[in-house]
Amino acid sequence: MLTRQLQRSFSNSGRVTRAREETKLPLRTSMLTFAFEMKEQVVPYVASSLSKKKQVEQMFDRIAFRYDLMNHLLSFGIDVSWRKKIVKSLRLLQPKTILDVATGTADVALLLSNLQAEKIIGIDISDEMLEIGRKKIAEKNLSNKITLQNADSENLPFEGNNFEAVTVAFGVRNFEHLEKGIQEIYRVLKPGGTFVVLEFSKPKHFPFKQLYQFYFTTVCPLLGKWITRDKQAYQYLYRSVQVFPEGQKFLNILERMGFEQLQCKSLSFGISSLYTARKP
Ligand code: SAM
Repeated sequence: MLTRQLQRSFSNSGRVTRAREETKLPLRTSMLTFAFEMKEQVVPYVASSLSKKKQVEQMFDRIAFRYDLMNHLLSFGIDVSWRKKIVKSLRLLQPKTILDVATGTADVALLLSNLQAEKIIGIDISDEMLEIGRKKIAEKNLSNKITLQNADSENLPFEGNNFEAVTVAFGVRNFEHLEKGIQEIYRVLKPGGTFVVLEFSKPKHFPFKQLYQFYFTTVCPLLGKWITRDKQAYQYLYRSVQVFPEGQKFLNILERMGFEQLQCKSLSFGISSLYTARKP
């Protein structure tokens, strides 16, 4: 039954999946799914003895100076349109207070300023990424609206029921403890608030699946090495996408954390997925 459900959600590429309608898993099955989802943790530097969180921070500090360039180059600029989908998904709600978790160099926070929000806060564990983000915000004269601070998604320095929307772009895959991060996001969201996640996923069909694999395992690490001097960072990118519980599995986690009105939309032949959820 579980396999059939997963197959159905995977073959849903480009369509919307609704977890509440499709997932009526008995407790034992969802516990099995949970164990399956959490089976492997990949880290950027396999020889390092540091925690995943410390390694991730170190990696983004190292590549920050070329992060934006690499993003646009590797995705042929499509990453911009993916991030715009986050803003689009919040247009109806028009949240006044937004938290952008794992904000990095603040691309999403900057795009969110196109909404009517009064306050946008971006948090990240990498000071180097935040520094570049702050410069971009200052250049656009948006420092009165957007503030960035160093904070960990797994221990958010905010009171509960605080934000009308929380966004994360390409961040959840990097959390050391995925469920702890989502639990924290749930806590700081106001009831009725929306959670939007943009994350890489894996194309399932020929020829995109094969092209994607070649590109991510061969071209990306080489370009990464050449441009950022950190080949491992771009090998980690591929490995972390492989183990991330995408699609229906991620919706199952959101549901377990208490979210409702769950949706997953596959973007660009399944290379990315946009998830939305509401705190009841
Ligand atoms: N959201 C940005 C974007 O769309 O380009 C940055 C995404 S970047 C791939 C992932 C970011 O997640 C990095 O800046 C990293 O430092 C941050 N990150 C990873 N784990 C985190 C955590 N536990 N708390 C806060 N930020 C985290």
